[in-house]
Amino acid sequence: MPQLMINHLPPQKNLQMIATVSEEADTTPSWQQQLADVVTDSDELLQMLELSAVKASLYLPKGFGLRVPRSFVRKMQKGNINDPLLRQVLPNVQETTAVSGYVPDPLLEHAHNPISGLLHKYQSRVLLTVTGACAIHCRYCFRQHFDYQANVPKQAQLLAIQHYITAHPDINEVILSGGDPLSVSNRRLFGWLDALEALPQISTIRLHTRLPVVIPDRLEAALLTRLAASRCQIVMVIHSNHANEIDTQTLQALREASSYGLLLLNQAVLLKAVNNTLAAQMALSQRLFAAQVMPYYLHLLDKVAGAAHFDIHQQEAIELYWQLLKHLPGYLVPKLVQEVPSHPFKMPVDIFQGRSS
Ligand code: SF4
Repeated sequence: MPQLMINHLPPQKNLQMIATVSEEADTTPSWQQQLADVVTDSDELLQMLELSAVKASLYLPKGFGLRVPRSFVRKMQKGNINDPLLRQVLPNVQETTAVSGYVPDPLLEHAHNPISGLLHKYQSRVLLTVTGACAIHCRYCFRQHFDYQANVPKQAQLLAIQHYITAHPDINEVILSGGDPLSVSNRRLFGWLDALEALPQISTIRLHTRLPVVIPDRLEAALLTRLAASRCQIVMVIHSNHANEIDTQTLQALREASSYGLLLLNQAVLLKAVNNTLAAQMALSQRLFAAQVMPYYLHLLDKVAGAAHFDIHQQEAIELYWQLLKHLPGYLVPKLVQEVPSHPFKMPVDIFQGRSS
């Protein structure tokens, strides 16, 4: 976060300001406190949003429960049950409807899991599930049924992961994922960075994280300094689905991260009644650009069990994409992709299908 600087004031005034600043600083919870103090109770969430009247229709899931940081709740519009941020986190009874084609492991990740904690789907990249924890539970998450118990690597497995990578010289990039890799302590995260940087074949370390969007204080100076000091190219892919997620504090935190020389990209998921309009997509790209984050991927929904109500027809996605191409400069148009199980790369969606020209 930016350093507070107090200069050019009479000493008396300076002291007053320091007192004010330190009092304010004391009342701001650390990112760890914010992570520990997330909202998990639907009644509380609806009360905060002045929506208590709707609680009669609430659905309480048994497994993947409500989880949302307070700083993310503050970005939601009070009194609006259709708020696009609220829709992403509030459990919905439609999750219980079994829909053909929507399955627990839509990407067949178990088939690319040679050792615990490591997924190897693409030739030059491996993904490490460094934690099963997230600050937020997104109702559309394709890993909501993932077996993290079996797949969060312990310290002892670090060596096995290093050996695996060394035995596959084509691998030059490691993706830290999860869960959310920024939900672990700096000590643990830096341990992972040290271990990967020790492998000469690794040139890029990528972090896929929603923490900068949901708890922007996570982008603290200690983290950014360590990432900037890496001998590897660091790429941070944030996950933001809607412009309202990038309020002033988030925008400033992302700009600060960019000032450390990190490459910041965004991937979004196309979600019904959240961001499946031209206005929503344009606003997201423009807001990301203002935060010095480049739009990277716009994903079609992975067909995970419980999320069918977020899906839109592929042809609707294609029509929306053509509109985006018309209205935005090319550098603000993310790639429209879908994950096809066992395919060796993210599949670009064929935007010419169903069109005469
Ligand atoms: S932050 Fe990412 S991994 Fe975590 S629940 Fe949301 S989509 Fe899933």
